[in-house]
Amino acid sequence: MLYRPGRIFLSVPHMGGHEKNYVQKAIEDNWVSAVGPNIPGFEHDICQHTNSRYGVALSSGTAAIHLALRLLGIGPGDEVLCSTFTFVASANPILYLGATPVFIESEAETWSMCPDTLRAGIEERLKQGKKPAAILLVHSYGMPAKLKEIMAISEEFAIPVIEDAAEALGSRYAGHQVGTFGLMGIFSFNGNKIITTSAGGAIITNEEGLAEKARFLATQAKDPAPYYQHSEMGYNYRLSNISAGIGRGQIEVLEMRVKQRREIFNYYRKQLQSIEGLEFVTEPKTSFANRWLTTILLPEGHGPESIRQDLEEENIETRLLWKPMHLQPLYANNLYFGDNLSERLFKRGLCLPSSSSLQEEELEKVVKNLKKLLEVV
Ligand SMILES: *Cc1c(COP(=O)(O)O)cnc(C)c1O
Repeated sequence: MLYRPGRIFLSVPHMGGHEKNYVQKAIEDNWVSAVGPNIPGFEHDICQHTNSRYGVALSSGTAAIHLALRLLGIGPGDEVLCSTFTFVASANPILYLGATPVFIESEAETWSMCPDTLRAGIEERLKQGKKPAAILLVHSYGMPAKLKEIMAISEEFAIPVIEDAAEALGSRYAGHQVGTFGLMGIFSFNGNKIITTSAGGAIITNEEGLAEKARFLATQAKDPAPYYQHSEMGYNYRLSNISAGIGRGQIEVLEMRVKQRREIFNYYRKQLQSIEGLEFVTEPKTSFANRWLTTILLPEGHGPESIRQDLEEENIETRLLWKPMHLQPLYANNLYFGDNLSERLFKRGLCLPSSSSLQEEELEKVVKNLKKLLEVV
């Protein structure tokens, strides 16, 4: 990874100020390990913020997805319908369990899972005598998916939804926080997300049994016995009390971070929208997006990789959009339903620097260079 002073990054951690108080207290009280008051405190904060009943803090978003799938009893022979336009961490936990992802294309408005394609995929698999075991739905770049339509399909076919809201903490759909529509929702607090615990994740749910089982499996599935006894295979997926302390400080400023990221999106849109052929993802009326990353589609005649390299010369970090899962060598043999929208997005799109800590001069520099490269000045 290149680092030169003055670099403008894609998305970096942004402390709120109180994190160090929680961490310092943890060190003073010697709660520096996997137990301590910051953990239930952070879980409580997550529940309050999302208005969900139970929250389980975990070591990563990937761990949260793995556990959520495991809680549904998913295993070898099962198929899971998964958004194709996403980071690989959405799909890999399906493989961890010996199950098979079946990829579902996005729709053009939100770039998240297309309800019509989902339905077509389910009907096709049912025809083959294979009932999908779960729907793993991603809110891409923080934009809420079409939850009303997708939840209706979930109910109609009795297939549970896990919301991968790793990028979407703070986003709302029809007035409710994303992550609360499915049977379970997961978040990531990795360093590049809207808030961070350095590394971490969480499951939220309204089902007490699921939350309890998640906690049990995340702590090596210890049976209630005075010695170490195990009837099930568990994991070490706990979040430390130090990390949870960072999380407590971060959640205090989450709403401000959402506001800042939205302002960054609005700035880019204002400065760039006059460029012919350049497109932004707009927010449907039902949705409020956290705008985790500002993404653009470039005008015809401009390839994202050459723009990325040219901006790199200016010490500006940008990134191509997700290369869809069904085009990954790892998933070359998996089923895919869709019209290749994500492939077209991948070939045209770019993520712009979106850190909530970006200064106005930095945003101006990005815009100036982008305009120059697109030959509009
Ligand atoms: C970041 C991310 C994850 C994984 O989260 P980690 O905390 O990095 O394990 C999963 N899904 C999506 C969509 C992500 O963006």
